[in-house]
Amino acid sequence: MDYKQHIKIVEDWPKEGIKFKDITPLMADGKAYKAAVDEIVTYAKEKQIDIVVGPEARGFIVGCPVSYALEIGFAPVRKEGKLPREVIKVDYGLEYGTNVLTIHRDAIKPGQRVLITDDLLATGGTIEATIKLVEELGGIVVGCAFLVELGYLNGKEKLKDYDVLTLMTY
Ligand code: IMP
Repeated sequence: MDYKQHIKIVEDWPKEGIKFKDITPLMADGKAYKAAVDEIVTYAKEKQIDIVVGPEARGFIVGCPVSYALEIGFAPVRKEGKLPREVIKVDYGLEYGTNVLTIHRDAIKPGQRVLITDDLLATGGTIEATIKLVEELGGIVVGCAFLVELGYLNGKEKLKDYDVLTLMTY
């Protein structure tokens, strides 16, 4: 499947110099969206995962249909103040300032095999922070799956100790 035909590149958004990869046309095409999810489901089966974890909000778009297909759970990673019960947190650096991500303390049981999903791997900061949360809870990150990888930002370098699936690279 040529997924790239369904990605729209938006110049200078959200700020000048950025070529934003918009995945919403891929989601809008039922066959392309299903094909992409099916590839990740196949990968997740090979890895014998117990649970999917994804950061808000586009990690849900990729991860939740995988959970549904495999009849396993999904645990959301969210920005601070969004999850209602006891959480653990991690700070991570952004280009300007820092961000905090959280997960419910009981979201993952020690020893569970975890697949992490997001729409896009850029610098890898978001996924590195998500991995920290999962590992702090005793989860084993057996794979990370993305629709898109921005190869020129070297996010895979941060994830070099992990298995990574990406469906398209720019
Ligand atoms: P990273 O933490 O630098 O790897 O950035 C990845 C995060 O930023 C993901 O959660 C993406 O949703 C978002 N992101 C960064 N660039 C893009 C883009 O071009 N298209 C869609 N999302 C992006």
